[in-house]
Amino acid sequence: MQALLTLASAISMTMAAATGHAPHWSYEGAEGPEHWGALAPDFATCATGKTQSPIDHAAFDAKQAVPVRADYHAGALSLLHNGHTVQANFSPGSTLESGGHSYNLVQVHFHTPSEEAFNGKHYPMVAHFVHKDAAGKLAVLGVMFEEGAPNAELANLISHAPKSMTPAHEVAGVALNPAALLPHDLHVYRYAGSLTTPPCSEGVTWHVAVQPAHASKEQIGALHAILGENARPVQPLNGRRLIAD
Ligand SMILES: [Zn+2]
Repeated sequence: MQALLTLASAISMTMAAATGHAPHWSYEGAEGPEHWGALAPDFATCATGKTQSPIDHAAFDAKQAVPVRADYHAGALSLLHNGHTVQANFSPGSTLESGGHSYNLVQVHFHTPSEEAFNGKHYPMVAHFVHKDAAGKLAVLGVMFEEGAPNAELANLISHAPKSMTPAHEVAGVALNPAALLPHDLHVYRYAGSLTTPPCSEGVTWHVAVQPAHASKEQIGALHAILGENARPVQPLNGRRLIAD
């Protein structure tokens, strides 16, 4: 239950509270992404939703990328493993400014490979920074990682990352600065999407950074060893366009 309460969204928290427990789901086999919508009534949107994530960003014109501002600050490292991903939770104080909205950074988690595609190509890893505004609306910032120099901030996270399901716990004496996980340039593709895990709730404003960040092959490998393949396949655009202010 502890792990459920730390999942990405307020919406899923409401669902879990209503049902007492969330049905099991996974990334392969009979409980894999093609079947999510049928696993539980609460998951129906995974099959019927028209603005689902992730997507292939090929259709978006790179020139239309819009800038956002991430005002992130270091805080105590709080980690969990919810059975699907490794996640770091943040205390209030870090924000994302996008389209005249201010969102508070709640958590960051990882997928290997990236869920997002670019002309059919995936990066080996993505970090999803999940934010919530005062009204409870969710905004996610996706940062692709490509192989390169080691990321010192990621090293801290990886060395303390739980290898199996573990409730949120603070790592004594260790801080995490989420700003150090961002690329230098924060132009993003912005579009209306959804949670990429059940219940696949819509109304999530997606921001996908055009510029990737870097981590070493060993760091990406270390997270992949913990996470396995945890990427939902890309979903139909259904006529969605980039939102530019
Ligand atoms: Zn994610």
